[in-house]
Amino acid sequence: MNLVLLGPPGAGKGTQAARLSEAFDLCHLSSGDLLRAERQRGSALGGKVAGTMDTGGLVPDEIIVEVILNRLKEGRDSAGFLLDGFPRTRAQAESLDKAAEAIGRRMDLVVSLEVPDQPIVDRITGRRSCPSCGRIYHVRSLPPVKPGICDDDGSALAHRSDDTEEVVQQRLSAYHEQTEPLKAFYRKQGLLF
Ligand code: ADP
Repeated sequence: MNLVLLGPPGAGKGTQAARLSEAFDLCHLSSGDLLRAERQRGSALGGKVAGTMDTGGLVPDEIIVEVILNRLKEGRDSAGFLLDGFPRTRAQAESLDKAAEAIGRRMDLVVSLEVPDQPIVDRITGRRSCPSCGRIYHVRSLPPVKPGICDDDGSALAHRSDDTEEVVQQRLSAYHEQTEPLKAFYRKQGLLF
């Protein structure tokens, strides 16, 4: 089974992707996590995308397409793929179709997580995560026992630099303008759920 998760920032793509990939033994590819890892490593690619990510825009298609398609090839023997945060534009979706075909796969299902903008701003500005284990908290609705500290491993919780109100508004605009039209693209193919 090859699956795509669509949805605005903070809809829960990462949370659901972790559960689904474990339950169905899928190769989970999160475009945001891959880009953040490049930045953390201090790679040239990380340097190129930093400014765009920090202001909430979409990084150029050719950059993210190359990153994801390389990973698809590496995971060609997996039971299936779960793409989280990719594709986000029509050009990315078309590249994905071609790349999947090249390794004898096709997308089976595209799940769109629907959440209105206002709860998203609240969710994201209060979101904190553990840099070691990835557990997600919220300062009001899901706080850790000790403020700022992960319940599981005692690490100091992090606040993503793009999880501010101003940047979230930009990420929402990017979603509505460039990614939401993919729903029609996949609906036509009978893949949208
Ligand atoms: P979100 O919580 O907004 O869904 P992600 O962690 O998926 O965030 O992505 C963080 C940032 O990385 C995005 O705001 C964007 O700058 C960049 N990014 C991630 N995936 C893509 C993609 N498929 N195309 C273009 N930019 C991307």
